[in-house]
Amino acid sequence: MGAATIGTLDGSTTAGACAKHVDTRAVGTCRDCGGTWCTECLVPPSSRRQPLRCVECALVAAGIRPRSHRPVDGSGARP
Ligand SMILES: [Zn+2]
Ligand SMILES: [Zn+2]
Repeated sequence: MGAATIGTLDGSTTAGACAKHVDTRAVGTCRDCGGTWCTECLVPPSSRRQPLRCVECALVAAGIRPRSHRPVDGSGARP
């Protein structure tokens, strides 16, 4: 009967942290992807009816970016 109770520390590694910035605490959850994001990654809804989305999902919802999971590459179309 050893009192070896490993309680979870207050600062968890994954839970409660931003999915992109692991050192930043998440403040909200994206309604589309369900990920937890910090203030930098979340896009404040322009209207009250608009759900809270992350930057990626906001771009997809706005039609700016196609709904695909391609890795973001800086090198665009080369001449
Ligand atoms: Zn999202
Ligand atoms: Zn973030």
